[in-house]
Amino acid sequence: MYTDDYKAEPFWWKAAPRPEPSDEVLPDHIDVAIVGAGYTGLHTALQTARAGLSTLVLDADVLGFGCSSRNGGQVSPSIKGSFPHLEKRYGRATAIQLLREGIESMSFTEAFIASENIDCNWERCGRFSGAHSPKIYEATAKSLETLPSEVAFPWHMVPRSDQRSEIGSDFYHGGTVYPDHAALDPGRYHQGLLARTIEAGATAVGDCAVERIERNGNGFRVHTPRGVVNVRQVAIATNGYTGSATGWLRRRVIPIGSYIIATEPLDEDLAAELSPHNRVMSDSRKVVFYYRLSPDRRRMVFGGRVALKETDPAVSAPRLREEMLKLFPQLSDARISHSWMGFVAYTFDELPHVGEIDGMHFAMGYCGSGVGLAGYCGSLMGRKIAGDKDARSVFSEINFSTRPLYSGNPWFLAPSIAYYKLKDRLT
Ligand SMILES: Cc1cc2nc3c(=O)[nH]c(=O)nc-3n(C[C@H](O)[C@H](O)[C@H](O)COP(=O)(O)OP(=O)(O)OC[C@H]3O[C@@H](n4cnc5c(N)ncnc54)[C@H](O)[C@@H]3O)c2cc1C
Repeated sequence: MYTDDYKAEPFWWKAAPRPEPSDEVLPDHIDVAIVGAGYTGLHTALQTARAGLSTLVLDADVLGFGCSSRNGGQVSPSIKGSFPHLEKRYGRATAIQLLREGIESMSFTEAFIASENIDCNWERCGRFSGAHSPKIYEATAKSLETLPSEVAFPWHMVPRSDQRSEIGSDFYHGGTVYPDHAALDPGRYHQGLLARTIEAGATAVGDCAVERIERNGNGFRVHTPRGVVNVRQVAIATNGYTGSATGWLRRRVIPIGSYIIATEPLDEDLAAELSPHNRVMSDSRKVVFYYRLSPDRRRMVFGGRVALKETDPAVSAPRLREEMLKLFPQLSDARISHSWMGFVAYTFDELPHVGEIDGMHFAMGYCGSGVGLAGYCGSLMGRKIAGDKDARSVFSEINFSTRPLYSGNPWFLAPSIAYYKLKDRLT
């Protein structure tokens, strides 16, 4: 099942190897300390460094160790929940604003990559989303037809009879094409973003976990194994890796494993058959599968939630392969070259949150869809720290709630996922 050069690490690290650890000495004093060096933390740092604030980004592991160099590279507006659901819960104006900012996060990312000249295969390739039942196909069309004009985006339905024009599979009951959705190479995006952040004057240090943060007058003392740093402002950008150093946040995010495999290079004709328009692809199941071709259009990169907390790719790879073959039996001879996982952060309301707690800034909770949102929210957090009064977002206005007795260990995940799997089978 595996290639001879199989690696239990992200395929993206081949083109964008993770930076070597450095033994950099930490400064005694700094204006801004940022915890987490993924898209959120680096976008925050870019804003604060360019505003002239001395900026230090710390990561517990190699820089970009978290989701930001592990994801599927699929970029979409990313706000979960249908418009009627959001409207019922938050009112019409807020629902519209939530969807608007989701759409804006895509244009933000596109404009950022272009203006910073980051070479990461950004492409508005569009998405095909397969309907897992005829009922869902009809319901999707109906719900898209009733979207208010303020948040309308292009889409069209593809009936099952035409499905092969979009995907080399008969698994679905038709689907929807969203031509605006995009793809990028997540590792190279992170690499380019890191380079710009360092050029802007920020310092980024890996293998340096923040163990504790305490208030110190108007500022903070940030404790790490390499010493204590006195800082004026702190930003938390730890998303699905949020730990005990920030207990209030840990009680508000639910870490869930997401798993991916990449195949060896495929025959060009086979790859073109699987994805004729080279779109990003996913489906309507709540326990979703997401997949695409690699930027060179030769490998299948296939992801999904085949476990909850499992961190050993040797366990998740065979399960993912089995799911991949249900969609694409043509891949039965394709060997797996890479297998990896990462922890995304869900929230109880399935929305991202940007805000302040005890004087510390935070941005997190992208619910598995943060390639666009993390940069958007991180940039917003950086602008807020730098004193930009226009840095406002609806993601700061919604209460960031937890649940009684939840301390960061999601004991309820297994029954919830079992319920959603059953629901997927029945709808
Ligand atoms: C397998 C997988 C597939 C995905 N696919 C997609 C996709 O196709 N499209 C999409 O939109 N989203 C996708 N996502 C989600 C997306 O990648 C994330 O939402 C986004 O990268 C989050 O960025 P971040 O910077 O907030 O967090 P991360 O990139 O996870 O960074 C958080 C960092 O914080 C560090 N950290 C934690 N605690 C400490 C501490 N105490 N001290 C110092 N550092 C600390 C961690 O080491 C980590 O590097 C996927 C995620 C995974 C795991």
